[in-house]
Amino acid sequence: MMKRTMWVIAVPVLLLAAEAGDDGRRWWGHVLFLADDKLEGRNTGSPGHRKAAEYVAGEFERAGLKPAGTAGYFQPVKFRSRRIVEEQSGLWLVRDGKVEPVALSEEANISMRSDPPESLEADVVFVGYGLSIPEKNHEDLKGLDLRGKLVMYVSGGPSSIPGALRAHAQSAGERWKVLDQAGVVGALAVQNPRGQDIPWARATLARLQPAMSLADPALVDASGGKLSVTVNPAHADKFLAGSGHTIQELLDLANAGKVLPRFPVPIRVRAKVAVERGEVESQNVAGMLPGTDPKLKDEYVVLSAHLDHVGVGRPINGDSIYNGAMDNASGIASLLEISSRLRESQRKLRRSLLFVAVTGEEKGLLGSRYFAAHPTVKPQSIVADLNVDMFLPLFPLKILTAYGLEESDLGDLLRRVAEPLGIQVQGDQEPERNIFIRSDQYNFIRRGVPALAFKVGYEKGSPEEVIGEKWLRERYHAPSDDVQQPVDLQAAAGFNRVIGLLAEAVANRAERPKWNSTSFFQRYAGQL
Ligand SMILES: [Zn+2]
Repeated sequence: MMKRTMWVIAVPVLLLAAEAGDDGRRWWGHVLFLADDKLEGRNTGSPGHRKAAEYVAGEFERAGLKPAGTAGYFQPVKFRSRRIVEEQSGLWLVRDGKVEPVALSEEANISMRSDPPESLEADVVFVGYGLSIPEKNHEDLKGLDLRGKLVMYVSGGPSSIPGALRAHAQSAGERWKVLDQAGVVGALAVQNPRGQDIPWARATLARLQPAMSLADPALVDASGGKLSVTVNPAHADKFLAGSGHTIQELLDLANAGKVLPRFPVPIRVRAKVAVERGEVESQNVAGMLPGTDPKLKDEYVVLSAHLDHVGVGRPINGDSIYNGAMDNASGIASLLEISSRLRESQRKLRRSLLFVAVTGEEKGLLGSRYFAAHPTVKPQSIVADLNVDMFLPLFPLKILTAYGLEESDLGDLLRRVAEPLGIQVQGDQEPERNIFIRSDQYNFIRRGVPALAFKVGYEKGSPEEVIGEKWLRERYHAPSDDVQQPVDLQAAAGFNRVIGLLAEAVANRAERPKWNSTSFFQRYAGQL
């Protein structure tokens, strides 16, 4: 850990934080508690996460929120965990009768996100992006005989498909639905480095951490017994040798937004997997601010943020605690700050607000998935989700990026509260990162609830973009995402104010939010 405190003091181009008498220090106080080494990175099911959950429940109570879990403020969630025993596992390529080992950790990893078979050997077919999007006539699997085979694919999708839909089609749920139908026994995924936030060298450090799935089998994506392998793009040619294609050629096509070829790969992949299994319990935390309108108070605007992070892991620069200050102590701190401010302002809201701190996000959005499947209020009464995850106040808030902006009328509402404060609102500028499906709002969207997620935004090509990219490269899911890093408190204060005002606007508007008629996701409306 670098013991260095460096404050970035924002030029107060926006008076909105100052007007509110708020310099972001109380928000930062919550971050300091939640990202302290004592909480050991708040891994799902760990004592540190439990302490964090108790802190949040205590703060909810102080802010006058009513308990809205199933056990006071808590909603317990059960998980199954899997950890690879790497010494007893292996991956081999069989080519022309010759067996060549694959170096786990360096060349590829066996993912524990899906429950793997003990052993397997199968042919491999390269299937482009491995997507099926009938609405856009994009079919990577059609006409191929994939029964009993492994598919290999590159992450991403053709640029002809809108970003949100492309992300949705790549979600674990959609992907495995399509692959299961095709009868495959597993998948070899090559992550396009262009959409990858964490470089391979760091991502691979997490391979020995337990993966989790919800204990309820109805809430698990991949059916059991499927092999899931992540291939290091720098070594993908080892797999592709003899196919007549190279990974560079395929990535060039992907980066140009083109459709990818499909072809047989002249290898068989052999796998042996030893898994250590366990059971884990963790908590969502929910608190409610009742609305005042006799009718509308039975409808809820959810403000969500994930409380968990990745815990203690492989040391980097001598530090093994992955504190998760920005990911996502920052978002939980926003929920706490917004709820305190609402109480202090004594403002009346017509609808009720439901503040939900979820667990298991880092394990695949699991706590929010559980909550959306078992909401603690009447399912149809949730009108919107506003999700705050790693909003990155690293520079002044002049632009707010909103994910899902084009999908529902929440977008217009956000513009109406942000623009008078001098904040420009923009949609997703980097759809290749799939942020739309990468946090908890996605579980509400899949159940038909209009939702938005947010980050402090920047223009492409600006110095702020450089700061953001450097942050991802160096601190994202690294122990240096801690309380020693420079943070712009004014930007955080402004952000909290805007999200609070948006929550108020949704709570007070006569009509509940609705999907835009052009949105792909309106088909899920009414599914909660
Ligand atoms: Zn994260």
